Amino acid sequence: MARREGGSSRPDEFELIDRLFAPLAARMRGACELKDDVAYLPLAGGLVRRDEELVLKTDALIAGVHFLIEDPPALVARKLLRVNLSDLAAKGARPLVYTLAIMLPKETDFAWLKRFAAGLAADQKEFGILLAGGDTDSTPGPLSLSLTAIGAIPAKRRLLRAGARPGDGVFVSGTIGDGALGLKILRGELGGLTTKQRAFLVERYRLPRPRLELGARLRDFATAAMDISDGLVGDLQHVCVASRLGAVIEAERVPLSNAGRAAVKQDGKLIQSILGGGDDYELLFTAPVEKEPALKEVGRKLGVPVTRIGSLSSNPQMRPKVIVLNAKGREIKLRQAGYRHF
Ligand code: ADP
Ligand code: MG
Repeated sequence: MARREGGSSRPDEFELIDRLFAPLAARMRGACELKDDVAYLPLAGGLVRRDEELVLKTDALIAGVHFLIEDPPALVARKLLRVNLSDLAAKGARPLVYTLAIMLPKETDFAWLKRFAAGLAADQKEFGILLAGGDTDSTPGPLSLSLTAIGAIPAKRRLLRAGARPGDGVFVSGTIGDGALGLKILRGELGGLTTKQRAFLVERYRLPRPRLELGARLRDFATAAMDISDGLVGDLQHVCVASRLGAVIEAERVPLSNAGRAAVKQDGKLIQSILGGGDDYELLFTAPVEKEPALKEVGRKLGVPVTRIGSLSSNPQMRPKVIVLNAKGREIKLRQAGYRHF
């Protein structure tokens, strides 16, 4: 569904598909080398086992909204794939294939697209996922990219947002707030810190690490799970609404990277961005508190720290509130719990 774009410095639509995208689909047999209208997903004896169900997720990135047009194209591609993989990770899913829709303004040239495709190729290898199809269009608007990832989980093992129980612990993977601080650095809103710390935070913003292995292990422990993309507190609120519970978290327990800790030391108000900003792409989950040692051990083995930051309340008056306490046990009011597009 696209028209030939006149006067632009790139090959036509079909040559683009052939040169850049067909190689990414070469090992996906049902994709017919991107020479058919559709891709086929053979379920029996193919990608998925009889006792599995598919998990689907679509996420889009728009230039000027989710990334800057100056950003390295390979990193944009990898982030596009990884934000979707992060959702699959939160559901404990094994990645299988993805589809890709790209809406190109005239200025997006072949060199940009080549580097974009190279980024996808690198991450396909890293995460064991293949391209199955997509769409290529031109647009009068900004460069827009949409990706749908498909994964598989054992049937009847869904990790919903809605499964949390009163008294469960609230856990997170990795460190929180790095992505939000990295974006602040890119916007010129966060000074200080060492060059190394700044580079670390920017990298955390640009290149999320989908916690696929941890997510798969969570199926044995977690009562509810999601990935943190719009901000820790806002996303925990989603779990609370879905599970009809309230939650209390202790800011002191929220795991920070060395760079994150240095930033807060420099300016205490940054805790607001850490708790309420987005782009963490870490896992947020709930599990019985007595599972904490076993969960920490799983994290240690995978090299991804797992931290309990609070618990779910059984107090009906707290539903579906999230309360954040400081070291003195006083409530920290957040200006913005999470990112909203509108
Ligand atoms: P239609 O005209 O029906 O929209 P196309 O003829 O544009 O479909 O697409 C031809 C084939 O190329 C299809 O298999 C489609 O999935 C694939 N394709 C098109 N654009 C992309 C893309 N950006 N990435 C991956 N596959 C693509
Ligand atoms: Mg067609």
